[in-house]
Amino acid sequence: MTKIGLEIHCQLTKLESKLFCSCKANYREHEINSNICPVCMGLPGTLPRINQKAIEKATLIAMALNCSTPDKIAFFRKNYFYPDLPKNFQITQLNIYGDTSVGGSGMIMVGDKQIRITRIQLEEDPGRLIYEGSSSKNQTTLVDYNRAGVALVEIVTEPDFENPKQVREFLNILSDLLENLNVADPSLEGAMRADANVSIEGGNKVEIKNIGSFHDLEKAVHFEITRQESLHSRDIPIAQETRHWDDKRKITISSRSKEEELDYRYFLEGDIPWITIGKEIHQRLKLEMPESISSKKERYVSSYNIPEQVAMVLSSDKFYSDLFDKSHTKNNAKEVANIITTDLMGLVDTREKRERSKLLPSHLNDLADLIQSGKLTRTSAKNALYEIVKSGKELSQIISEMDLGNVSDKNQLLTIIKQVISEEPQAVEQAKSNPQTVNFLVGKIMQKTKGKADPKLTLVLLKKELG
Ligand SMILES: [Zn+2]
Repeated sequence: MTKIGLEIHCQLTKLESKLFCSCKANYREHEINSNICPVCMGLPGTLPRINQKAIEKATLIAMALNCSTPDKIAFFRKNYFYPDLPKNFQITQLNIYGDTSVGGSGMIMVGDKQIRITRIQLEEDPGRLIYEGSSSKNQTTLVDYNRAGVALVEIVTEPDFENPKQVREFLNILSDLLENLNVADPSLEGAMRADANVSIEGGNKVEIKNIGSFHDLEKAVHFEITRQESLHSRDIPIAQETRHWDDKRKITISSRSKEEELDYRYFLEGDIPWITIGKEIHQRLKLEMPESISSKKERYVSSYNIPEQVAMVLSSDKFYSDLFDKSHTKNNAKEVANIITTDLMGLVDTREKRERSKLLPSHLNDLADLIQSGKLTRTSAKNALYEIVKSGKELSQIISEMDLGNVSDKNQLLTIIKQVISEEPQAVEQAKSNPQTVNFLVGKIMQKTKGKADPKLTLVLLKKELG
């Protein structure tokens, strides 16, 4: 049986500052090597000060993944020399004296499959290496330390995955969960990275390092299984080794073994005392824990009678569920859900579009009310929504500017209906014998009114005319 285990590195992007100093957690908007200070540069004589919010957010992740949460946590030094690490050691966690990392063993369901979580630890991100030059011979490596010291949570799973599809499903669930907890934004470049270990039946375990995104993680696992199966089928032994993911060529390559045979000489970080989290903080965090995705989904179905599938789409994306929760009333909830999951999704499907969007919850509430009262057709509502997202104007202003208001004047509608009846004699005969086919004529009337005919009134008048 194929066994796959994951180590996910997730930046706590919703923090204000780094893990041990007051430099900005959002390092992305700074000039290279400007978001740094003596602490995150590891200058002699400096001391780290722990960011308490980071511990709380990491603990929230542990709780959401059903992990045990110890009362006391400790930090360790992991010693290694590499240009991305200014201190020459990384402050991280290690469960060598019992469970002292923010999260102990836990589990999460992926469909019917249970994925066990080994542990969750909090550590600092190293700096970023930038490679310049076209080939390995004339390559220059530049270092940007803006990222050094940013809070990183490592989520380690047991080797419970059996195929890349399960890996992908887990990553989708995990991304939604992290976003819903308001601890991380998985869509930010570099915010999610991973290592994986893969072994097929009868083969050794191979570790894949350096996978820069969730998207590539599934690909890397898939590539590695194929590579190992190909070796196995030719009776070539699968070496136990560490391989690196080459994100340009989309393959794994063997690392020179010397590079990996490191002795990290872990020892307790003497500059940070053991930290007691205690029952009170755990209790408070439990209270502060945002409503889970599954509970949101159940609430949408049971309170508003929203179809299961729509409720699932709505609840799994924090952007949509926040919007829904802020905009609906008891009476128009179903309509608001409908607008978000049909028309709005295409307009705000990327991070950039969401940031640019001028849509407010009140717009959705107004739109749903007008659709329900028959003052706006769905087609007109869709056109109005496009304009709202772009300009943020009031709905009433858009309706008058774009002339989207319904044609609900009886005489005006009657004229159009009569016109359609005289133009479509065949369809009229058909509709008379089989009322089901009346929709064709309604469609023609909608065409003539550019989708603005009041649908209920149209149907009443048309049926009357048909006799
Ligand atoms: Zn700093």
